[in-house]
Parts: sequence; structure tokens; C-alpha cells
Amino acid sequence: KFKSAKDMAQYIEKEKVELIDCCFVDPLGLWHHCTFAPSQCEEDDLAQGLPFDGSSIRLFRSIMESDMLMVPDPATCWIDPFAEKKTLHVTCSIYDPSPRKPFARDPRSMAVKAVEYLKQTGIADTMMVGPEAEFFLFDHVKYGVSPNKMFFEVDGVEGTWNTGKPSSEKQGGGNLAHRVPPKNWYFPVPPIDTGMDVRGEMLLTMGELGVPIEKHHHEVATCQGELGFTCRPMLECADMMMIYKYVIKNVARKHGQTATFMPKPIFGDNGTGMHVHQSLWKDGKPLFFDENGKYVKLSQTCLHYIGGLLKHAPAVLAFTNPSVNSYKRLVPGFEAPVNLAMSKGNRSAAVRIPMYKPDNPKQKRLEFRCPDPSCCPYLAFAAMLLAGIDGIKNKIEPPPPCDFDIYELSEEEKAKMGLKSTPGSLTETLDALEADHQFLTAGGVFPEDFIQAYIEWKRNEYLSVATLPHPKEYELYFQC
Ligand code: GLN
Ligand code: MG
Ligand code: MG
Ligand code: MG
Repeated sequence: KFKSAKDMAQYIEKEKVELIDCCFVDPLGLWHHCTFAPSQCEEDDLAQGLPFDGSSIRLFRSIMESDMLMVPDPATCWIDPFAEKKTLHVTCSIYDPSPRKPFARDPRSMAVKAVEYLKQTGIADTMMVGPEAEFFLFDHVKYGVSPNKMFFEVDGVEGTWNTGKPSSEKQGGGNLAHRVPPKNWYFPVPPIDTGMDVRGEMLLTMGELGVPIEKHHHEVATCQGELGFTCRPMLECADMMMIYKYVIKNVARKHGQTATFMPKPIFGDNGTGMHVHQSLWKDGKPLFFDENGKYVKLSQTCLHYIGGLLKHAPAVLAFTNPSVNSYKRLVPGFEAPVNLAMSKGNRSAAVRIPMYKPDNPKQKRLEFRCPDPSCCPYLAFAAMLLAGIDGIKNKIEPPPPCDFDIYELSEEEKAKMGLKSTPGSLTETLDALEADHQFLTAGGVFPEDFIQAYIEWKRNEYLSVATLPHPKEYELYFQC
């Protein structure tokens, strides 16, 4: 970690760094990179930014105005463990060259702005974030869609579409005794867990890159895993989520496997969530604990934050659950939330209050269980924060806690309690965002024109799936 462009430039020279890899994120959550020779990365270049054509980056801008700068953040450097040459990674923010200012559609700059807005409101100065992104690790995946051919094959299960389960966890042979059955085995040890060494390597690699690592484990679904790191301030945490995906995908590749963060790759088994633990802090003090709080020692600030998050959740999900596939995860029976409710234990509730250390003020937080890792973490964290701020500013009360089986409630009872369900599709979510986004444009964080462009982009994604005849439709309608 460097403090300035000067420190960075000195290191590059002294340590004979051969290449400098500049990465930045697009609004759909993927990293892009451009790798520069050290001669192009003198102190002034690093401070002012390196030039690139922004017109080809999704959702950035038109061909008319394409000259942009990627500006390295010296605090985000590490030596890339996957590169052969000595390569220094640096995460960049995007700037407009003239007049020089942060680019309004740069997700990283938007996250910075969201935290600035939090400070301006006087409510808090820090959002602490702890994401739990899950992923699947497959041995063999093939897929393709073209006008005359669609196919999908996961770990030996062939099909036009994936309705099967992966047949093995890197067993090579056909020994059923060593297979994780779908959706009923959490935390298995080897030989059932075949991913122990790969996940271990992923975790330690992440640790070497400065991520405060905690643990790794097998998840509920076949071939599913999760790595944990401790919570961090929002921007740093979003940067770490990018490292998380980069390391997991590249260590998997090294072992001839493929990691995917797709929210629901396997029908009939758990999907891939990215629960996000969050809390607000001011002057180093946690704001979500109150010894006399009326519900599990949550402060009124926290309850209002939850109120805002649940009220705006249908719109927030456009950024935390931005894929068509996201909504195939948010169905009953797979530990994914289906109710926009608050609870201390219920895993079908969107907001869960962890009860591991209920009396520790620093541990008091909420877990928003909706998000999945197909999101852009910068936009997802910013959207949740802005919904929470809106809740605090407008003193929005959350619906009463649901510490009982919500499935037993009738629709009328749910309506009476003000309980809504998570949106059923990306379309519903986009409709919600279209109708409700003032809380996002507050403080100038999400530009209005960006929200409109994003909605249009995502509606096209939805249509590209919705207009495709599905094999299930043949089963239902072919004989009609
Ligand atoms: N996979 C579940 C989800 O989709 C979570 C399961 C877990 O963390 N135990 O949210
Ligand atoms: Mg976890
Ligand atoms: Mg998990
Ligand atoms: Mg969790």
C-alpha cells in the first residue's frame, strides 16, 4: 500500500517492476485492464492518470466523447501472483480529462460520493461492510447459444439446458459414495469436500494481496464454496470484492477448474448469494447498538436504516441483484430471502440480525441477504447505503420483526403487517427502480441519465432471455 503516486513511482523503479497493470470496474461489475510499461508510469502520469478510449466500455459513454483517464489509487497496489512478469496491479478511478473531474458514471467514484454524502448528512462518517460471496467450482463446463444451437453441459451432465446436477466433485471416476448430494450437506470434510486445497490456495493468495482473510468452507450446494474476510470500510471492501473474484477465478483456472458467481447455475440446489453485513460508524464509534433498544439491542438509527432499506428494496435490487438469473435464486426453499422482512433468525427474511454476539456494540449490524455476486459491488454498496440514509433522514420504521415462520402467514396477514415479497423478476425490479430512485440521486451520487441508461441496458438483457423459447415451453405447449 502506497500513500502517494511518488511512493508508487519510487517502488516501481527500486523494485524493477516490469509492468504496471491498471484495472477499473464498469457499471456491470467487471474489471477491465490495460498494462503499461514503467516508462509510461512516472510520478506525474500516475498522479494525473493514464489515457484510454472510454467509448467501448459498457454504459460509459458515446463515441463522440471518448477520451478518458484512469487514475491509479496508490493504496490499492499488489504484485499480481498470476502474471509471469513482475507486474504491479493498481485499481483506478475514472476521470474526465477536461475539465478534470471524477467521471459521473464511474462506479468507484460513485461509491466515494455516497460516503461523502453520508458524511455531509452528519449521520455517520463510515459504512462498514462485510460481504459473503459464494461461488461454484466446476470441472467441465460447456455452453453456447446461437440461432440454431443451444447447449449446456456441467460436469458431465449434458443437456440443451441445465436441469441436471453436476455429477461429481472432481472425482474423475463414477464413485457415487464421494459425491455431495444436492441441497442437504453443509460443511462436509474430504473426501466428500474435494475443494479443500483449491479454496485454501485461494484464501492464502488473497491474504498475500492484503485482504484480511478469515476462513473458507464448502457451502450447501454441490461444488459450492465460500471464502470469508473481515468487514472493511465500504470503498476498500468493494475493491476487495474485485480481488476476491479475480483470485478465485484465476486459482480455479490454474487447477483446470472454472469458478462462477452466477446466482443460480443449478436447478434444484442452493443458489449463489452475497449476503452483505453492514453498519454505520461515527468518530470510531458504532451507531447500530443501543443497550435499551426495543428489538435485540438495535439503535433507533439502525431500525430506520433497515426501514429505508426494506422500503426501497425493490429498487435497490436493480443494483444488488442485477441479472435475469438473480431471480431464479430468490425462490422459497434454498435459504435465499423471499420476504422483505426483518428477523433475528429467519433466513427467508431479507434482513437478518446476527445473534452471535448480541451484547457487543461493535458487532451490532444487519445482514442484507438479497444481494448476489453478479452485482457491481461499488453500485450495490452505494445503493444500500443511500436507501439506509433515506430511512434515517425520514425516520422510516421497518415492518414488525418476523421471528416466526413467515410461510404460515396468509397473503392478507402479510399485507396487514406491511410485508412485501422480493421482486419476482428483473423486470419488476427495473419497474421499481424507474418509479423510485430519488433516494439514489440524492447528494448527486447516481446521475439521473445513468439510471435511465442502466434501466434500458438491463431491460434489453431481460428481453434477450424472455424472447428465447425455453425447452420447458416445449413440454408445456408443444402438444397444444
Ligand atoms: N446460498 C444461500 C443464498 O443463496 C445462502 C446459504 C448460506 O450461506 N448458508 O443466499
Ligand atoms: Mg458465510
Ligand atoms: Mg454462505
Ligand atoms: Mg450469511
